[in-house]
Amino acid sequence: MLPNFNENLQKYAELLVAKGINVQSGDWVKMTIAVDQAPLARLITTEAYALGAEKVIVKWSDDQITKQHYLHQSEKVLTSIPQYEIEESEDHVLNHRVCRLSILSNDPNLLNEVDPDKVAAYQKVVGKAFKAQRVATQNDDLKWTVAAAAGADWASNVFPDIKTSEEQVDALWDQIFKTCRIYHDDPVAVWNEHKETLKEKATKLNDIQFDALHYTAPGTDLTLGLPKNHIWQSAESYDPKGVEFIANMPTEEVFTAPDTHRMDGVVVSTKPLSYAGTLIEGIEVHFKDGKITDISAERGDATIKKLVADNEGATGLGEVALVPDPSPISQSGITFFETLFDENASNHLAIGAAYPTTIQGGTKMSEEELQEHGMNVSTTHVDFMIGSDKMDIDGIKKDGTAVPIFRNGDWAI
Ligand code: ZN
Ligand code: ZN
Repeated sequence: MLPNFNENLQKYAELLVAKGINVQSGDWVKMTIAVDQAPLARLITTEAYALGAEKVIVKWSDDQITKQHYLHQSEKVLTSIPQYEIEESEDHVLNHRVCRLSILSNDPNLLNEVDPDKVAAYQKVVGKAFKAQRVATQNDDLKWTVAAAAGADWASNVFPDIKTSEEQVDALWDQIFKTCRIYHDDPVAVWNEHKETLKEKATKLNDIQFDALHYTAPGTDLTLGLPKNHIWQSAESYDPKGVEFIANMPTEEVFTAPDTHRMDGVVVSTKPLSYAGTLIEGIEVHFKDGKITDISAERGDATIKKLVADNEGATGLGEVALVPDPSPISQSGITFFETLFDENASNHLAIGAAYPTTIQGGTKMSEEELQEHGMNVSTTHVDFMIGSDKMDIDGIKKDGTAVPIFRNGDWAI
């Protein structure tokens, strides 16, 4: 076991509850977590009640059981989501504004043996059935945090050269604690400093209001328009009452939405993407007039093609995020096979929905209005990584002048 593991796990639980979802008196908390992470779930539950939570709901999962469901249920049964499950979710979201804490620990290869059609069909119905929860989350109508725990199968993918499973898990916990700044005496204070650093960049970009971004790197030459009144966001978000929360832990990114009508050129991925239990590598995407005209991958080609073909609004991008290559996660040199970490090591884009919070007045707009303002509306949101130390990005002003934003993968502004 890592030295002081229990003490650090306790600090981690405190950070997730106090800084992540920032539990206030009377809040309802809903946590999704794997059964093998029960010790962390217990600490989080205790901490949430200590901060005045009215109710803590735990939704357990287990990778092996999930896989059995996929392998043995017919597509018809797998994709029939009972009405009572939808109503339960809507009750939590609409009546209780539940704070959502999602703890990820899955095996990135879990569903590799499952027919990609079946996985895609399930993802699609989930996107539709739990629309209320998805929209409330993307609008910051409730507080939410996505974080991680070191699952054994996940750890074995990240550290295949380490001998024992126990040591692999230790190594992954060590990375989670490092990147979430748990080893500092006061992680909350360090997070407050970190979010100010990110906010400084976001504020600069917001003040300039570039009309477009131009990306160049080996294999990449992409121009993305930016909508009028777009907002660059960083670590912190706010619920409708103005209570701050941190949506991703760790986070190193500054992000906004690209203009759904103006995406042209080609971009290639630089890190593997683990999506729906399948590993996708070597993605190449071609755009014209805001639409994906061609997408392929060296590995996971069928899965990425299905993602784009089968989901509403998945022919466009909803997020453009800037992460300097010298960021700690990138410098660790580790591929985590988990988007929460890999996206924070790299400039990334997301296929699918834009966050309504990334345009002025967006959270009050209907889907039609969002689209009119250049914000992509979709039932999905899947990030893929495009950054490297060879990437340059220019901001293009309305009059056509180009200003360096990134040079050789690092901030130039
Ligand atoms: Zn992002
Ligand atoms: Zn994203």
